[in-house]
Amino acid sequence: LTQEEILEIRKDFPYLSQEWDKKIVYLDSAATTQKPQGVLDALTDYYKFQNGNPHRGAHYLGQVATEVFEEGRQVVADFIGAKSPNEIIFTNNTTQSLNTLAYILGLNKVKEGDEIVISILEHHSNLIPWQYVAEKTGAKLRYIYIDKDSKELREEDLDQILSEKTKILALTASSNTLGTLPKVKEIIQKAKAKSKDIYTIVDGAQAVPHHKVDVQDLDCDFYAFSGHKLLAPMGIGVLYGKEEKLNDLPPFFYGGEMIEYVYEDHSTFLKAPMRFEAGTQNVGGVKGLVAAIRYLQAIGLDEIDAYEGQLTQYCYDQVKDMDFLDLYTVKNNHRGSVITFNLEGIHPHDVASIMDSYGIAIRSGHHCTQPLHRYLGINASCRASLAFYNTREEVDQFVTHLNDVRRMMGLGSK
Ligand code: PMP
Repeated sequence: LTQEEILEIRKDFPYLSQEWDKKIVYLDSAATTQKPQGVLDALTDYYKFQNGNPHRGAHYLGQVATEVFEEGRQVVADFIGAKSPNEIIFTNNTTQSLNTLAYILGLNKVKEGDEIVISILEHHSNLIPWQYVAEKTGAKLRYIYIDKDSKELREEDLDQILSEKTKILALTASSNTLGTLPKVKEIIQKAKAKSKDIYTIVDGAQAVPHHKVDVQDLDCDFYAFSGHKLLAPMGIGVLYGKEEKLNDLPPFFYGGEMIEYVYEDHSTFLKAPMRFEAGTQNVGGVKGLVAAIRYLQAIGLDEIDAYEGQLTQYCYDQVKDMDFLDLYTVKNNHRGSVITFNLEGIHPHDVASIMDSYGIAIRSGHHCTQPLHRYLGINASCRASLAFYNTREEVDQFVTHLNDVRRMMGLGSK
């Protein structure tokens, strides 16, 4: 993608093309992405012309809403390479997808003596649910650590920790903090070779928006992601699961539209996916998600991946030699689009506030990865996260203003 093409793409995003009194450079897409007009139109079209409660009743709008919802399931299945739309469960977000697994899988299949393996890179939403499962079942929670220099998972940990006791492997496909892309496919193969009776789970929240995903190729049992990090509205997420694995698990939420028969004292339940979709679903969100997926596909996931990789490297190369900046981003240039750092002697919140005064939106804090920050020996950090709608000029502004932050704090340029 050329800079001219990116400038054209930006016109599709009302937020990015709006004339503000101050121009905002949005470098927080790992938190949530801006939305193109097509996604906003899909959402309002749904509520204007198609709104009904899906799977309920025989009237026209109920049928239209059902079609929107079920077509969406097929589009998502194709997008991530699932075998069947029955493998796609709609949730609110990654957090709900992973917590659902903790309850239906963790609490039902894990027992004392088993081990749950995660990595130190995990976002709290793929960490705390497993702490909970470990506490409830007596299983042991074990971590794969990273090399502190390269920021890659330590191969020796993988060899040592994965064993026949591993019941659950839950791993991020892309670290929201360091941009590390664990070799998920190989690690899953390794884990399955060691433990026959294992469930493999991938947190794809930061992977799906940036790289092509094929769940059958990964051969994971479950995969979770959020729509809002992928140009779609907030409040729609996905839990993929292999059909036979899903149908072997009990429901989590009980209520409308997940049942076969209900008697006074017991009930029987539908198969996946509806078994896991009790209550009225976010059909507008599904329609928005479909529009987002089609938008990304029209540009091309490979083109997006390549452009974001170059743009992140362009930024990385400019900040890596700044002697007042500690850079935490993974060294490997095949990475997620995040530049995570601290400016020496300045609290990350101060950095982010001063950058905000220049109209540059970056994140500061622990990015929901406290154990990772502790492991790296820091409390917090700043993170600039890039998307395909960011330009080189915006990266230049970010870099220029990093120098200004030091001046503002009275530390001068080194
Ligand atoms: N996992 C990762 C790697 C993430 O980056 C995030 C969001 N920051 C989540 C999970 C949770 O996503 P959500 O808040 O949409 O549930």
